[in-house]
Amino acid sequence: MENPRYEKALSDPIFEVISSAASQLGLEAYVVGGFVRDYFLERGEQKDIDVVAIGSGIDLAKKVSQLLPGKPKVNVFKNFGTAMIRQGNLQLEFVGARKESYRKDSRKPIVEDGTLEEDQQRRDFTINAMALDLRPDTFGTLLDPFEGMADLNQGLIRTPLEPGITYSDDPLRMIRAIRFATQLNFQIIPESLQAIEENRDRIRIVSRERIVDELQKIMAAKQPSVGLALLHKTGLLEYILPELTALQGIEEIEGQRHKDNFWHTLEVVDNISKKTDNLWLRWAALLHDIGKAPTKRFDKNIGWTFHGHEFVGSKMVYPLFKRLRLPLNEHMKYVKKVVRLSSRPVSLSDDHVTDSAVRRLIFDAGADVEDLMTLCEADITTKNPRKQRRYLKNFQEVRKKIKEVEARDRIRNFQPPVSGETIMKTFDLKPSREIGLIKEAIKEAILEGEIPNKQEDAHRYMIHKGLELGLKLSNEALKNLSEDD
Ligand code: ATP
Ligand code: MG
Repeated sequence: MENPRYEKALSDPIFEVISSAASQLGLEAYVVGGFVRDYFLERGEQKDIDVVAIGSGIDLAKKVSQLLPGKPKVNVFKNFGTAMIRQGNLQLEFVGARKESYRKDSRKPIVEDGTLEEDQQRRDFTINAMALDLRPDTFGTLLDPFEGMADLNQGLIRTPLEPGITYSDDPLRMIRAIRFATQLNFQIIPESLQAIEENRDRIRIVSRERIVDELQKIMAAKQPSVGLALLHKTGLLEYILPELTALQGIEEIEGQRHKDNFWHTLEVVDNISKKTDNLWLRWAALLHDIGKAPTKRFDKNIGWTFHGHEFVGSKMVYPLFKRLRLPLNEHMKYVKKVVRLSSRPVSLSDDHVTDSAVRRLIFDAGADVEDLMTLCEADITTKNPRKQRRYLKNFQEVRKKIKEVEARDRIRNFQPPVSGETIMKTFDLKPSREIGLIKEAIKEAILEGEIPNKQEDAHRYMIHKGLELGLKLSNEALKNLSEDD
């Protein structure tokens, strides 16, 4: 049977350019990998194009650049034998076809030049191993020796070789399988899933950076729980996020049970993913209950408690991010903060919501107060529709109150309405403890609603507080006071 041709897949003019560059060098060139897969899946425009040359990928890249207007820069990665060109919003990756053989005791494969089919064989999955021909005479022909198209149509993740070999050679592929299953809503074939379970321990030899790249793609998917559950099922999650697997299980003492916080967490992550693409808010959802494993207690009088789990959990965020090589910048701080505050709106909505409690919440959460509310709403996983409605309504109440209070008191970006300098001038003070005390007292008075968040009121309160502390007004302050009268 003749191989089908898909010239339409290659309608972007860039492919003509690559094709003639290859001809001029007397090379064969093919498009492979994600571009081909996503074309057939109709996943929208692919920006990354992987090109395989039978011969030097670097030479091909250089030739392509010469033929392009403006001769874009060729980034050469000599160690990998690859080269990259950016052209408009496209990113072109060039590599020479290769054959890889692995030895059990080494992560690094022995790499030799290979045929197209050998190159396809070393790829991770059949759906990623399809190639489209760029040679002029056979332009657009699909070369699919492992029947990736059939797997694509049936939604299957399958390895080109025996799965045990593919996964053992590069154990990252185990997480990639799960990542693609999550992104594409595909099934990993049972034989492959079993091979992942068997090879899970080899994930130890993979760098954390590579693992986290894949994990982030799982977290960014529409329904991250698909991947998280697969990671759990195959035993991989234990290596990556033991803090999470520690949440799994239900204990019963004296007829009292607590919920399974692992499966609850997965539901929360899916819920929040319907509401936000903010990856870090999704991370906060993933980690919001991790403090529950180390704080779990059974109390004869109250039953199961997880007292202080938000604080303990938020303290676990930094070491976890550090271990996974996640950024330790403001994203980490944000996740930490949202985890720490994750139960506050719940306690608020339990009883009558007071203005001062809302002001304190806004003060502590600052600009992230809405994200916090989004997490709390996603945290509702009760299957009882009446409870569900009631909880949601309570949170809507809190949200409304936040808006009202914020409009009036502007606590969100709280700036001390009286500066330390003013306090020093008013009482003729050198830098000292009193200044901190007065500032804190003003802040407290505002949050408690004793005074409005206005400069004038805060100023008056400062004088009151200073005198109460036994301080004396400076001459200048006295003069100003009498002028005001
Ligand atoms: P994405 O849309 O996420 O970029 P992709 O399939 O393009 O998906 P890449 O990581 O960009 O994934 O890799 C490009 C191609 O290289 C893959 O389609 C696959 O053929 C091959 N590949 C990538 N990583 C591996 C690996 N670890 N083992 C084998 N082949 C791989
Ligand atoms: Mg890609």
